[in-house]
Amino acid sequence: AKQEGKNDVRTFSAPMAEEASERAELERDLREALGQQAFTLHYQPQVDLDTGTLRGFEALLRWQHPVQGAVPPAKFIPVAEESGLIVPLGTWVLREACRQAAAWQRRQPGVTVSVNVSPVQFNKQHFTATVREALDAAGLPARCLVLELTERTVLQDVAAATRQLERLRALGVRISLDDFGTGQSSLGLLRHIPIDDLKIDRSFLPQPGDTAPAQRKASALIATLITLGQALQLHVVGEGVETGEQRDLLAGLGCPAAQGYHLGRPMPAAQAEALLTPAQAP
Ligand code: C2E
Ligand code: CA
Ligand code: CA
Ligand code: CA
Repeated sequence: AKQEGKNDVRTFSAPMAEEASERAELERDLREALGQQAFTLHYQPQVDLDTGTLRGFEALLRWQHPVQGAVPPAKFIPVAEESGLIVPLGTWVLREACRQAAAWQRRQPGVTVSVNVSPVQFNKQHFTATVREALDAAGLPARCLVLELTERTVLQDVAAATRQLERLRALGVRISLDDFGTGQSSLGLLRHIPIDDLKIDRSFLPQPGDTAPAQRKASALIATLITLGQALQLHVVGEGVETGEQRDLLAGLGCPAAQGYHLGRPMPAAQAEALLTPAQAP
């Protein structure tokens, strides 16, 4: 297959060839960056809408490229997935996020960290062992780790994914279905896969520029998704909350938790730490 790929390059148009060499360069730089600790994690708050308190953070990967500066995950994650580099990179993310969350337990016991898992990582036989090792090395209680997966990850082989999810849940970690509603077969999937949390994609939120009818439709859809999640006893998290109106809408509909720029941007660990809320003395 590798050989075929190489021959294909010759028939590429000029812009395609340019794109291919850009990818090859990015892959080489990624490989180098892995060896040089050029990655960091930023942490975005997940807030309890009832109490306004911090529930946990989503860990988001950041790469500072020596020449290009900050490269967005949307650009380098696909390259890391195609090259298989996402496996060692993802393991680093898990270990680092668990280490950080364990250090934060002293300040706020129970604070969670959510880690994004690529299908390439998830489909490896040893993924459960990798997760257990990360928890053990950090000394983090399993219930404080949330693994975020998308439908794309689960759909490749629902039966195999279900077995993998059951092994992971047996460790005690939580499973969250990310970007819910954007995939192909969202509803049917919920019947089969064992999950704990549902993250409603931000594309469902009414936007300030929307017409009144569009806002009403978006609100009706959001309300239905929250009800759906609650009927299935899932913990619902609203994503991409950018305004106070969106926050109030979710809170009013009984959505238990949310995340978004309005509630807190992704930030370095040192800044995130300042948001931890120590348990009140009795
Ligand atoms: P995601 O998992 O859906 O993460 C949420 C993305 O939305 C993040 O983008 C976050 O910065 C952004 N975001 C948060 N609040 C808001 C908001 O209010 N408005 C808007 N417009 N955006 C908001 P980011 O950090 O660029 O990450 C993009 C995607 O890259 C993530 O989407 C996730 O799929 C992937 N990713 C990030 N870190 C990792 C990682 O460690 N491993 C893997 N496999 N994928 C990752
Ligand atoms: Ca996510
Ligand atoms: Ca998401
Ligand atoms: Ca997304």
